[in-house]
Amino acid sequence: MKLHDLKAQGLDLQENIPLSRYTFTQTGGPAEYLAFPKSLEELRAVLAAAREDGLPITVIGNASNLIIRDKGIKGLVLILTGMNEIKVEDSRVRAQAGARIIDTSFAAGKAGLSGLEFAAGIPGSVGGAVFMNAGAYGGETKDCLESATVVTRSGELKTYSNQELNFSYRHSLLQENDEIVIEAVFALKKGDKATILDQMNYLNALRSYKQPLEYPSCGSVFKRPVGHFVGPMLIAAGLQGKQIGGAQVSTKHAGFIVNKGGATATDYLNLIHYIQKTIKEKDGIALQTEVRIIGEE
Ligand SMILES: Cc1cc2nc3c(=O)[nH]c(=O)nc-3n(C[C@H](O)[C@H](O)[C@H](O)COP(=O)(O)OP(=O)(O)OC[C@H]3O[C@@H](n4cnc5c(N)ncnc54)[C@H](O)[C@@H]3O)c2cc1C
Repeated sequence: MKLHDLKAQGLDLQENIPLSRYTFTQTGGPAEYLAFPKSLEELRAVLAAAREDGLPITVIGNASNLIIRDKGIKGLVLILTGMNEIKVEDSRVRAQAGARIIDTSFAAGKAGLSGLEFAAGIPGSVGGAVFMNAGAYGGETKDCLESATVVTRSGELKTYSNQELNFSYRHSLLQENDEIVIEAVFALKKGDKATILDQMNYLNALRSYKQPLEYPSCGSVFKRPVGHFVGPMLIAAGLQGKQIGGAQVSTKHAGFIVNKGGATATDYLNLIHYIQKTIKEKDGIALQTEVRIIGEE
């Protein structure tokens, strides 16, 4: 079956859609095709149809850690926000990939389950959190993830244990294969509901105090180099406030690049390269991006 036949059967499929509508930076070019499968069955049918149509497939989550180049993405882009069920099962939380990790964290907290407090303010999806091994305030996805189920591009289902996912700082096995996370199970500890929710609200207050949440951004742009913090390095190099086009090194938190209005993905990329060049020359350190950069060059 072809992609357009699936659309006729109810698949939410759109053509030539600007992805800046979905990215947290509010930048990025169009997707040739954009689909929102609502179930595993529909997702598998879409994968099969895209194969038949010869279309490359790109899966994105909440696009909170993404820069999509201005020329956009050829082929089919999938967003899994329609697959967003979260279930609490005794001391485990089972969440579909398109659920927000924030909602998953609060579902756990409200059930008196501890372990996902660190994620209370991370604006990504469950799939993105597993892919990135997202973390904050001393916690990481790997600390409480029990297993993740994926579907391969050919439609096969596989479940990986925590160990098999080969997690490290902002890294997982999924960054080395093409597999698509569809569900994650978090193994948590029973605790006091009020204490857990207090901690989550406290971390979120700290986050709004320190981070420029009033502007579009993609969170921390660079990975932390061993023995250094990115923000202070950029401040020492005189880069805080540096602006190219509409993209600016945040004056509130130098690890963030904010869209001050009208930024393009090219502005973001030019500023990133400028920062990398400056820090390499000044400190001899090659800053690596944490943010994922995708799309046509
Ligand atoms: C204001 C702000 C604050 C942030 N704070 C933090 C923080 O404290 N800690 C932190 O770790 N991050 C933080 N981030 C970054 C971001 O939220 C995380 O990296 C998050 O895990 C990304 O999830 P996402 O769904 O948005 O993924 P996306 O940005 O959409 O995608 C990131 C990568 O994951 C892949 N991916 C997404 N879903 C799937 C899936 N289902 N299967 C396979 N691959 C998939 C994509 O292909 C892409 O390569 C912040 C971002 C913002 C804007």
